[in-house]
Amino acid sequence: MSYLQNVLSQVEAKYSYQPEFLQAVREVFESLAPVINKNEKLYEQEAILERITEPDRQIQFRVPWVDDTGKIRVNTGYRVQFNNAIGPYKGGLRLHPSVNLSVIKFLGFEQVFKNSLTGLPMGGGKGGSDFDPKGKSDREVMAFCQSFMTELYKYIGADEDVPAGDIGTGAREIGYLYGQYKRITGLYEGVLTGKGLSYGGSLVRTQATGYGLLYLVNELLKDHGDGLDGKTVLISGAGNVAIYAAEKAQQLGGKVVTMSDSTGWIYDKDGIDLALVKEIKEVRRGRISEYKDAKPSADYHEGRGVWSVPADIALPCATQNELLIDDAKDLVKNGVKAVCEGANMPTTIEATKYLQENGVLFVPGKASNAGGVATSGLEMSQNSERLSWSFEEVDAKLKGIMTGIYQNIAAAAAEYGMAGNYVAGANIAGFSKVVNAMIAQGAY
Ligand code: NDP
Repeated sequence: MSYLQNVLSQVEAKYSYQPEFLQAVREVFESLAPVINKNEKLYEQEAILERITEPDRQIQFRVPWVDDTGKIRVNTGYRVQFNNAIGPYKGGLRLHPSVNLSVIKFLGFEQVFKNSLTGLPMGGGKGGSDFDPKGKSDREVMAFCQSFMTELYKYIGADEDVPAGDIGTGAREIGYLYGQYKRITGLYEGVLTGKGLSYGGSLVRTQATGYGLLYLVNELLKDHGDGLDGKTVLISGAGNVAIYAAEKAQQLGGKVVTMSDSTGWIYDKDGIDLALVKEIKEVRRGRISEYKDAKPSADYHEGRGVWSVPADIALPCATQNELLIDDAKDLVKNGVKAVCEGANMPTTIEATKYLQENGVLFVPGKASNAGGVATSGLEMSQNSERLSWSFEEVDAKLKGIMTGIYQNIAAAAAEYGMAGNYVAGANIAGFSKVVNAMIAQGAY
């Protein structure tokens, strides 16, 4: 049995109860096979695969908070500090009822490679809670955030671990978390990113993941002699990533015809009215079904279905495992040219393979959605310098980083004889830098 197979079997046996984490490890290992096999002796001696699949530490804690009726409620909080070989741990906090240790470990593991790909000095981590901000009052969200930070503050710091937003953690939650950190520690430091502009946040952070995704899509299409102008685009989700992906797609001449949330999806043949989606989601915190109330010419469907619509480009921007094998078959049947992930691991391994085998240009989230964490890295730099850069300055840096990521993953895939396999390219490019740093720093 090869070294890679051996470690994979060990991880599968040890963490058989963590399906999302194992899915991420399998996907990464499979595409890294050529690199690992080439360096097998060294990596085995250094126990690289054993070390890279075991977090530096994982913290789990009780989060008690008082609801509006005066009752004490209890959630579970997590922070997984996965790997800090190339910089302080960095990664978001997810607040969603589906959060558990397996989900946080999968996200933290992916984050290690993603952060490496940005070219910025950031290690990987992730955290969150099974708390659901939906339907809670502002005061309840604040009570939860204050309690969560009262425990988390012990483990984070501007040079140690810098959390950010993710599903369910937006500007409001980051504000409450930051306020509590400052209150407990007395430190005014860049310990969180995604902060408001008036207290150390960076311009473009809100737009960064969605804009960055489209900068990468643009570069990918350009490299294949094509462009976004006039293309029909499918987007799933209606959160931070989806909204700003739609905005940039429209700015670049694409026609976005779908968006969704966890209850249903809309199809607007005339192109999505983004101002309306923003009003529903960012202002009213409502459901995507309300789109049809305002625009009766659009279609609304309960449940899933975005990927059944014919289009040139598909951008899954909601959550993990939302693009399944049957969706991939529909997309291919309808002639899709490119699928680029805005969310983390939205495409199952089976669906990814089907898309690749059928000639679809496929870019995994760790490369295509890295614009968010890259801009968080830029926010950290601004906080350290105590400076604020202009929108244009940050946007130009983001564009440069996304272009660089595309070129790196394309080159890494080509170097190992897998030109056009961007999954392999992203894993190889992200992995090599982290591994070199781990070897240089010795056994730890
Ligand atoms: P938001 O919470 O802003 O939005 C998430 C969207 O996805 C909502 O429309 C939500 O619908 C929908 N959604 C969530 N869970 C499900 C589900 N189980 N089934 C169907 N739809 C669902 O999150 P973000 O936009 O920030 O994050 C989206 C994805 O992008 C995640 O995978 C995240 O990890 C990833 N990501 C985010 C980054 C960022 O900067 N924000 C950076 C890199 C990756 P509803 O409102 O009904 O729950």
